[in-house]
Amino acid sequence: MDTFTKSSTVAFEALEREGGMSRRDALKVMGLTGGAAMMMGAPTPAEAGPSSEKKVKLLIVGGGAGGIMALARLKRALPNADITIITPNEIHIYQPGQVFMAAGLYTHDDVIRPNKEFISDDVNWIKDEVASFDPDNNKVVTRAGKEVGYDYMVVATGIVYHYDWIEGLTEADIGTNGISSVYLSDLEKGTTKGGEVTWKWFNELKAAAASGKKPTVIYTQPATPIKCGGAPQKILYLSADHLKKEGLGANYIFATNGGKLFGIPSIAKSLEETQKQYDTITNKFKHNLIAMDVKNKVATFEETYQIKGEYDADLDEYEMITKKRQVEMKYDFIHVVPPMSPPKAVVDSKLGWQKGSAKGWLEVDMHTLQHRRYPNVFGMGDVLGIPKGKTGGSARHHGPVVTENLVSVIEGKKPTAKFDGYTVCPLKVDYGHIIMAEFNYDGLAPTIPFLDPAKPRWFWWAFDLYMLKPMYWYLMMRGLM
Ligand SMILES: Cc1cc2nc3c(=O)[nH]c(=O)nc-3n(C[C@H](O)[C@H](O)[C@H](O)COP(=O)(O)OP(=O)(O)OC[C@H]3O[C@@H](n4cnc5c(N)ncnc54)[C@H](O)[C@@H]3O)c2cc1C
Repeated sequence: MDTFTKSSTVAFEALEREGGMSRRDALKVMGLTGGAAMMMGAPTPAEAGPSSEKKVKLLIVGGGAGGIMALARLKRALPNADITIITPNEIHIYQPGQVFMAAGLYTHDDVIRPNKEFISDDVNWIKDEVASFDPDNNKVVTRAGKEVGYDYMVVATGIVYHYDWIEGLTEADIGTNGISSVYLSDLEKGTTKGGEVTWKWFNELKAAAASGKKPTVIYTQPATPIKCGGAPQKILYLSADHLKKEGLGANYIFATNGGKLFGIPSIAKSLEETQKQYDTITNKFKHNLIAMDVKNKVATFEETYQIKGEYDADLDEYEMITKKRQVEMKYDFIHVVPPMSPPKAVVDSKLGWQKGSAKGWLEVDMHTLQHRRYPNVFGMGDVLGIPKGKTGGSARHHGPVVTENLVSVIEGKKPTAKFDGYTVCPLKVDYGHIIMAEFNYDGLAPTIPFLDPAKPRWFWWAFDLYMLKPMYWYLMMRGLM
């Protein structure tokens, strides 16, 4: 460790000691560290990127985090383009804020803004959804039956939830009978029911724990890819801390289809330590929620496990046979994370992977984000069928790559900008600390290299709670970072 790194680390550690840093001081530190911390992996600003004067017809599908970031950057990069965006949502939700809503720290009004703030009048905004894509003929058809053609298209339709894939559960059950789900929102209508009911659920859980009998609380994580893979554990730790602050506890069960707490060993180890600070947390790995008896509060999981098969003398090992069985668990409270998929219009189109584990997700090159079979199509955000990055932070890093590569293609050049897989997972381990897990295709990729990314930090908590939201509205949505 060089002298600068060492002294910076010592300074951060000192500043971080609880109570040793006021909110005002935190903001000062964030100002001082602006170049690094605020940029969070710092993709190239749009102004510095290439541009094209060509008159092209550009279509952006989806007006959430990715679509709006793409729009802001491409408007600057293509000053003569005729730009259309198709997205139904008049309200834009800052979705990461739903976790702070669940923790009682934000309200609905904190996480919404009108989408018209980000879509200027010179952009043709069709307030509808694409019902079908026809990439062979460079056109789409909306739900209302309108045909829209394009020269180039950016697909940023995000992800859809499937509560109904869990037998016996409907969306209407969320917020009743001890069931919660922070994810639940209607992107088209701009509702954030998940954040609202989960805060209520935190308090119902506390009241139940205070009544003397320890409640059993299950937190699930499904078998499909999900956006913000850390959110299931964020809810676990924040709700456990909500009880702990009152000297209360519960039997917490984290039932995940995954095989470990986190894919990166140092982060997984730190999460194991986190779990020790709460009343009993039992991890049930390889458990996928498949059915619920909502009335009787029983959850059924499909457990995947392995047994020893025949011994192979040549290899000197046993063949391992994968088996599945159903496991029922009774609960008092349950936080459900729904299975997720790309929107139907993408799944049904020729744009998705046609086979393999990413079937249905947008088939783009994992580095250039250009469609592998339709070179005039690019993708942004959660809909991408690539190995990493279903986070808003990833979408922010997609922005400059898509802009640069799309300009190259328009100018008849090869796309050379590369997405490195950047993904950010601010794991809230209690009210006051975050493990800022940042990684890419190669492994850990911390924005501030001298801070151990596996360590829970008050600094990151303050940054996430106070800074990220204004940065999202004023910088990211305007393609300025
Ligand atoms: C609870 C929660 C916590 C999160 N926490 C974090 C976090 O801490 N950090 C982080 O970086 N990320 C976090 N995320 C993830 C982040 O919000 C998403 O990764 C990000 O919003 C993805 O952007 P997107 O544009 O791909 O999708 P979205 O922002 O979901 O937008 C998709 C848009 O496409 C529109 N659309 C859908 N289908 C069609 C269609 N057929 N035609 C036209 N339009 C369509 C939708 O109406 C929507 O406007 C969190 C998400 C949730 C839900």
